[in-house]
Amino acid sequence: TSVPRIQLNDGSSIPQLGFGVFKIDPDETERLVTDALEVGYRHFDTARIYGNEQGVGRAVASSGVSREELYITTKVWNDDHGMQSAFDAFDASLERLGLDYVDLYLIHWPVPAQDRYVETWRALEAIRESGRARSIGVSNFLVPHLQRLLDETAVVPAVDQIELHPAHQQPATAAFAADHGIAVEAWGPLGQGKYPLLELPEIVGPAAAHGKAPAQVVLRWHLQRGYIVFPKTTNRARMAQNFDVFDFELSDDEMQAISDLEREGRGGSHPDSVN
Ligand code: NAD
Repeated sequence: TSVPRIQLNDGSSIPQLGFGVFKIDPDETERLVTDALEVGYRHFDTARIYGNEQGVGRAVASSGVSREELYITTKVWNDDHGMQSAFDAFDASLERLGLDYVDLYLIHWPVPAQDRYVETWRALEAIRESGRARSIGVSNFLVPHLQRLLDETAVVPAVDQIELHPAHQQPATAAFAADHGIAVEAWGPLGQGKYPLLELPEIVGPAAAHGKAPAQVVLRWHLQRGYIVFPKTTNRARMAQNFDVFDFELSDDEMQAISDLEREGRGGSHPDSVN
């Protein structure tokens, strides 16, 4: 399978489908990322706070897959905001990953209560300048946070990684991102199992019609909307299922019925409340 790539505003490109490792046990990460590499995944989304960067690093190191084929994202955690703390956090993440660069480095949450994300962003600009992060972006940034970066700093984030799934599509943030050339990464693309998304008729119907599983229909909806996704599973069969989404297409009507599931159904924390 060749995974389509999304062009980023800095000239780089990112595989539109990857594998996320949130809540994967550090002791299991090397094995599961190795499974994912065997299935064909080349894009991995981790974070310092997940505690499993080392496992990702070990799996890619022993895989024999060339570095240029891989796409690795990690993130600076909330207690490392600030210029020097972000530099130190980045060095430590690279070391744990065993890499000399990451493809994408993100500010994990804006943490407006600390009011340091502008300074942290300047640190990421310098890290990108050094070549040790090919692209830089943000996560959980809403319109006011993005607007401040645009007003006060030089580099437009390449991506915004936000909670996004049919019940929570974040229309304002997604539209703002589109207007400013910021690619949207959808975290929790399957709703994190927090509502019965995979049992809704709008999902089950097209699944039966196309001979695919409900999760594949949801991932297909994301891909056709232009979002970048990295569903998480510890089950190898599901890993393969989530990767096998390039041989069918949802019709306009099927897409619309899923888009109509929007109901401001945030499953995670509101970005302004995360400290
Ligand atoms: P997800 O929506 O990918 O849901 C994962 C759950 O869906 C799994 O635990 C599993 O139970 C189920 N599932 C997976 N594949 C399935 C299939 N084929 N059939 C049926 N059920 C299936 O949620 P997530 O893991 O939270 O999000 C994906 C990735 O997004 C994470 O691993 C992480 O990399 C990233 N993320 C980022 C943030 C952030 O703040 N930036 C927050 C959460 C997650």
